[in-house]
Parts: sequence; structure tokens; C-alpha cells
Amino acid sequence: MEISNYLQIKKKLPINVNLLAVSKGFGSQEIKIINNEGQNDFGESRFQEAIEKKFLLKDFKNIKWHFIGRIQSNKIRKIVQNFEYIHSVDSYEKLLKISNVSFQERKHPLIMLQVKFSDDPSKGGFDPKILIEQWDQIKEFKSIKIKGLMTINPKGLSSSQNIKLFQKCRNLADSLKLPDCSMGMSGDWKEAVEAGSTWLRLGSIIFGKRSY
Ligand SMILES: *Cc1c(COP(=O)(O)O)cnc(C)c1O
Repeated sequence: MEISNYLQIKKKLPINVNLLAVSKGFGSQEIKIINNEGQNDFGESRFQEAIEKKFLLKDFKNIKWHFIGRIQSNKIRKIVQNFEYIHSVDSYEKLLKISNVSFQERKHPLIMLQVKFSDDPSKGGFDPKILIEQWDQIKEFKSIKIKGLMTINPKGLSSSQNIKLFQKCRNLADSLKLPDCSMGMSGDWKEAVEAGSTWLRLGSIIFGKRSY
């Protein structure tokens, strides 16, 4: 646990840039330590792991849970029931299902649509062109609030390549009049801030090395 990294990064961020502490692979104890420093937003990518921590931390009412992992369709109801934010909605079909389930559950999750700005077969996401075509329909979906776009850059890019891809995300979000861009991880968060991120998703730089 690198509390000093956390505090230093936090101090450097412009006020419009939020920090999501990605606690996957770490336990409720670590979460409590940085929650005590004022960190309320936590991101998890595996449903079962998240639910166990959420239960252990149920008395910590200020914690907000964000789902950032790949969404399996059969888990959508549970994700909607348990997370205030969903950053990783990577298809029209899943978004529609999230909307329908949210209506049934009387929930109003805040949504980021995951978009792919480079060919990375290991990552899901909307194709930007298709998202633009589908946008008029998508923005009418009930019971959800689409706050922005989310993207994950491929590993191993140079600093300027990272900035270019993040700028594509920012530009698309602006053109759709969406305020948020969930972009930037431990290795590329500075570039993401430069390109206009509003949500950094930071794991290892805060919590240390994960086992997965
Ligand atoms: C694990 C994960 C992160 C955090 O990654 P680090 O490199 O440890 O900061 C961010 N976003 C997503 C979607 C993740 O799965």
C-alpha cells in the first residue's frame, strides 16, 4: 500500500479530475486505509470479489462502488443492484439490457461507454463510428445516465501515442456533449490528465503490485 503515492497524486490533480481507486486484488483493510484519507470511489472488475468486500464494508456509507470489468450479460441485474457507476459498457445490447433492468430495479446507474480507439483484440468496446450512428437511439434509453466514455489504451505506447488516443476519446465525448472521460491507469495517467480525463482509474500505483 503506497499511501504517499496516493496523497501525492491526489495533490497534483486539477479539481475536475476524479480519482477512482481500483481495489481489485486487495482487501477491505487496504480500502479502509485510503477511505480514511478521504477516498470514497472504489473500482472493482470482478463481481464476486467486489460483493465480498462490499459486504465487509457495508458500514462505510460514504463508499461508492464502480464496476470497471468486462460485463457478462447474465450478471447485469446484480451489477445494477450493487454499483452506482458502470464504466465498462461495451455494446449496444448490454446498454439496452442495463437500461431495462435498471427500470425494473428502480435504479439509475451512472454509465460510461467503453470505446475502442485502436485495434486491440484483447479489449472490448464500441467502435466510435458505430457509436455515433447509434447515438440518437442510445441517448433515449431510460433509467440510466450516460456520463461519459471510457477507454483503455494498449500497453507499450509512447507518451505521445497515449496522448493522441486519449484525445480521440475526449473529442468524441465532447462531440456527444458528454462531460466525462474515464481514462488513465497507473502507467499512463499523466497523459490522460493532459488529454482531458475526468476519471483516472488507478490501481497498482496506489495499492502496490497485484497477484493478477
Ligand atoms: C485493473 C484496472 C485498472 C487499474 O490498473 P493499474 O494499471 O493497476 O492502475 C484500471 N482500469 C481497468 C479497467 C482495470 O481493469
